Amino acid sequence: MPESQYSFDNPVDRYPHIHPPEELVSEPGRDSELDPPADHGEGSYRGSARLAGRKALVTGGDSGIGAAAAIAFAREGADVAIVYLPQEEADAAAIADQIRSAGRKAVTIPGDLGERSFIDDLVSKALDGLGGIDILVNNAGKQIFCPNLADLPDDQFDQTMKTNVYAMFWLTKAVLPHLGPGATIINTTSVQAYLPGEVLVDYATTKAAINAFTKALAQQLAPKGIRVNAVAPGPIWTPLQPSAGQPPEKIPDFGSQTALGRAGQPAELAPAFVFLASPESSYVVGATLAVTGGMPTP
Ligand code: NAD
Ligand code: MG
Repeated sequence: MPESQYSFDNPVDRYPHIHPPEELVSEPGRDSELDPPADHGEGSYRGSARLAGRKALVTGGDSGIGAAAAIAFAREGADVAIVYLPQEEADAAAIADQIRSAGRKAVTIPGDLGERSFIDDLVSKALDGLGGIDILVNNAGKQIFCPNLADLPDDQFDQTMKTNVYAMFWLTKAVLPHLGPGATIINTTSVQAYLPGEVLVDYATTKAAINAFTKALAQQLAPKGIRVNAVAPGPIWTPLQPSAGQPPEKIPDFGSQTALGRAGQPAELAPAFVFLASPESSYVVGATLAVTGGMPTP
C-alpha cells in the first residue's frame, strides 16, 4: 500500500491483487464486514488545504468510494455531512471519526434516499449542521445483479432507479437554491454506462442516465458559476460488490479484467473527487473523469 497518494510506484501492484471469497453478504454491504478490507485512504491520504473552509454533502459517505471522498475532503479542509442507510450506522460512525480527527465538522444523516419525503429533511439537517453547502456529491447507489430480464422484479427496477437517478434529481433540486458561484456538484456514474454488463441491465441504465443528467445540467448551471461533473469508477472493491452487486462466482476475480489486472481501492478515487470539487478544476465542466484501471471509455 502506498504511503500517500503521492507515492511514486508501479500502479500494477500499488495495491494487492485481491481474490475475495465467493460468499454473498446481505444488502447494504458493510465496510466493516468486507473481506479483504478496503482502503479508504485512512492511513495514506495527505491533505494540502485544497478545500479549506468548504462544506460538502456526500451521499453514501459511510463506505466505499463515498467514504474515501469524505475522508479526503476533510483532510483538505472541508466540513462534511454524510448520508447513508440507518443499517449502516457503524460504518458511518467510523467515517465521522475520521472527519473529526482531521479537525473538521462531521454531520451524520441516516435515511432512505429513495423516499422523496427524506430529501428536504436531509437538506435542512445538512444546512443546519454545516452552515451551508457548496459541494454536493451524489454518490449513493444500488446495484443488484439479475441474469434474466424476465426475473428482474419491478420493485428492484424501481428501487435502483429511485436510488441512483431520482435521488440525484431530488437532492440536486433541493440543494440548488443554497449553492452559489464556485459551488460544485459531482455525480458518481460508472464504466457500466459505456460497457453495460448483461446482468446489470437496470443498474447500467441508471449510470447512462447519470452521465446525461450531468452533461445537461452542467450546461444549464455553468453560466451561474456552478460546475457539474461526474466520476466513472471501474471495478472498485467496496461493499456494493459482494452484496449481490455481482454474481458470487465473479467475486474472486473481481477487477482482474482491467488493464492494470486488479480491482481498484476506494482510496484511488478520492483524488478525482477532490480535483472536481476544488477550484483548480475551474474550466472542467460536464466532464466524466474515468477511474477505471484502463477499462476503455469514450
Ligand atoms: P458502497 O456500498 O460503499 O456505497 C453505496 C452507498 O449508497 C451505501 O453505503 C449506502 O449508504 C448508499 N445507499 C444505497 N441505497 C441508499 C438509499 N436508499 N438511501 C441512502 N443511501 C443509500 O459502494 P460503492 O461502490 O462505494 O458505491 C458508491 C458509488 O459508486 C455508487 O453510485 C456505485 O454505483 C458507484 N460505482 C461503484 C463501482 C464499484 O466497482 N464499486 C463502480 C462504478 C460505480
Ligand atoms: Mg455503505
